[in-house]
Amino acid sequence: MLVYRLPGTFDTREAHLDLLWEAGATGLEERAGHIRAYFGARTALPPEIADGDWTEEAEQDWQAEFRRTLRPVRAGRLTIVAPWHAGEAEEGTRPLIIEPGMAFGTGHHATTRMATEALSELDLAGVRVLDVGTGSGVLAIAAALLGAGFALGVDIDPITIPIARENAEINGVAPAQARFEEGTLGLGDLPELEEAPFGVVVANLYAELHDLLAGEYAAHLVPGGPLVLTGILTGKLDLVRAALDREGFTGVTVREDGDWALVTARR
Ligand code: SAM
Repeated sequence: MLVYRLPGTFDTREAHLDLLWEAGATGLEERAGHIRAYFGARTALPPEIADGDWTEEAEQDWQAEFRRTLRPVRAGRLTIVAPWHAGEAEEGTRPLIIEPGMAFGTGHHATTRMATEALSELDLAGVRVLDVGTGSGVLAIAAALLGAGFALGVDIDPITIPIARENAEINGVAPAQARFEEGTLGLGDLPELEEAPFGVVVANLYAELHDLLAGEYAAHLVPGGPLVLTGILTGKLDLVRAALDREGFTGVTVREDGDWALVTARR
């Protein structure tokens, strides 16, 4: 990869950017006080931009770099791994394989990890679990791998549903153990949601939505069943606390990881 490094920034050399393009640059980038112009071959440059230097840099294999950096994530009794790391689950944990793609939920976000840890701490044997905002399906699949009797993942984004189903299949989780449907709470259009209340409700959304949905969480939970909420910025915890209080939830616990919080409660 041939790079022409020109001292300055896009701002200080604004007048010279066109000259780089005209000289045949295929791309421009600003990095640490230099403009990096990418060229296919060395070329003569006009005097205004002749104060740079040419360097030949090794090609980066971005795909390989991405695959290497996407390390397995330990989360309670599971290790969330990409398919190419399936053999690298931490000792004593089960691999939860997620194909990184278009849907949120590879385990690398603190909220997904905290929610998986919280599910790991529950006795899910035979329990029906509802995952609101399932994304990649990671939390519903986690519940199934942790022994849940049945997990239902719902998401308003239709793109997530086939992805979640495929991730379930990769993990050997059959449709009888985990189902994924487009939809959300409160619309009454998903028969699977209305069949019976759930033993656990987990939702990785955001504080304002938890505030709106808190009554629905209560309506879909068996009495005493745990509610696990994340996607909450720590600065918005009071909004979620107030919503849970309003809907009669008690025993609220909070854990934090950086800017993110996870809240559990029972009703
Ligand atoms: N559950 C995954 C996880 O923990 O990594 C994905 C969580 S991602 C932060 C939030 C997901 O919620 C997105 O896939 C989004 O499409 C979905 N979502 C947003 N609003 C929703 C709503 N009102 N009802 C259901 N799903 C919703």
